[in-house]
Amino acid sequence: MLSGFFVGAEKQMQYAILGGGILGLTAALRLAERGMRVTVFEKETAVGGLTSGFLVGDVWLERFYHHIFRSDRAITRLIDEMGLSDRLAWSRPLTSVLRGGQAYQLDSPSSLLRFPPLRAHERIRMAAGMAILRYLPSPGILEGRVAASWIRRWMGRGPYELVWQPLLNSKFGPLSEQIALPWFWGRLHDRSAELGYLRGGFQLLYARLADCIRERGGQLRLGTEVTGVVPEPDGRLAVSTATGKEMFDGVISTLPTRLTCRLTPALPAQYRARYDWGNAYGAHCLILALDRRLTESYWININDPGYPFIALVEHTNYQDLEQYGGRHLVYLGNYRAMNDPLFDLSEDSVRAEFLPYLKRINPRFEPSWVTESWMFKAPYAQPIVTTEYRSHIPPFETPIPGLYVANMFQVYPHDRGQNYSVDLAERLVSKIGANRR
Ligand SMILES: Cc1cc2nc3c(=O)[nH]c(=O)nc-3n(C[C@H](O)[C@H](O)[C@H](O)COP(=O)(O)OP(=O)(O)OC[C@H]3O[C@@H](n4cnc5c(N)ncnc54)[C@H](O)[C@@H]3O)c2cc1C
Repeated sequence: MLSGFFVGAEKQMQYAILGGGILGLTAALRLAERGMRVTVFEKETAVGGLTSGFLVGDVWLERFYHHIFRSDRAITRLIDEMGLSDRLAWSRPLTSVLRGGQAYQLDSPSSLLRFPPLRAHERIRMAAGMAILRYLPSPGILEGRVAASWIRRWMGRGPYELVWQPLLNSKFGPLSEQIALPWFWGRLHDRSAELGYLRGGFQLLYARLADCIRERGGQLRLGTEVTGVVPEPDGRLAVSTATGKEMFDGVISTLPTRLTCRLTPALPAQYRARYDWGNAYGAHCLILALDRRLTESYWININDPGYPFIALVEHTNYQDLEQYGGRHLVYLGNYRAMNDPLFDLSEDSVRAEFLPYLKRINPRFEPSWVTESWMFKAPYAQPIVTTEYRSHIPPFETPIPGLYVANMFQVYPHDRGQNYSVDLAERLVSKIGANRR
């Protein structure tokens, strides 16, 4: 990947990268490959951001369920480049929808045509509507339209109420009626039934990226929160942390634009008015280790009302449970407003609230099946992509020379995903290269 277009410049440029998720690490690697000196600042003590893992026995498991799709070419290439492609396993695990207390498979055209909660003509209409979006090569003509009304009109009320409304509600709450149709296009267009997982955990990729950055002279400051970015009179940028102030020729912030605005008081009011905008939900996951299998599916969307979680993801119905010491691993996931009381509850309280609902899904379930549990939460995990969202996506360049923003809030109309963060990072570094040339 070494293009060399920065090498040989009169001095070695110094870049700070704020955030050690996939976007920050990819950007740091690509800059380092081009001869830049990079320092990654990450507030957590490990790299990986929203995809980071924790050890279950001696194997990494993501704090929030993760897999990739066949269309995720940028991340697949990166996995290959990092020498991990032998660990990337593809398969078609069972994905279902919970309706009327029962889990029904819904992960292919044939399962849709057999999907019992819908009547025959509703299934055909839903399949036709999905095909239109899936095979539409680009979403340009859908811009400005709302997903919910398009689905009701083209797929019909039954499919909307039974399948899509619960999905939109669970991700976007009261704004679900305003979600942009191009984002919904992305969900159908980009996704494959075959899913890819990095055996041993995606954390292996992040550790390898961190090693490659260090081998190229880059630094990773873990457990170091950035508290300010200030342009200095000499044209450089000062990055502040609890340990002091460091000077850089350029800064790439991979933080949500909202947070970059808070850290950078010098960003002008006009910029803030346009880009310090919109809402995001936080993510919450309770992970259970069970002594036996809970369901048959990898993924169950909870489309029945009244449940305190929106998805049940039984990871070990997808990945071999032996690697986790025979533990059956189940995620109970949620997206909620960042001030939702769920984020303040203790793990014991969340367990007490969630576990009774597992009996509805599998009547044989007993709390004694649970041998261990973990709980994770993250802010700014799901951008709320309403129809105005597009006009509030910032460009890479900011009005402050040398300060760039690149974050998962810019990947619209695609749904956020590691692949799109890799792609953004690579495009940004090419752009910085082109500007310098
Ligand atoms: C529940 C859930 C499920 C998902 N499922 C999938 C999936 O199946 N497949 C997939 O590909 N993607 C999935 N994603 C999305 C994926 O996790 C993200 O797209 C990806 O991790 C974004 O990476 P990023 O580097 O852009 O941002 P982040 O991972 O958010 O990285 C930003 C980093 O900045 C750090 N930071 C924040 N503030 C500061 C500060 N002041 N100073 C220093 N550091 C700071 C954060 O700690 C974080 O590490 C999922 C996300 C969630 C929440």
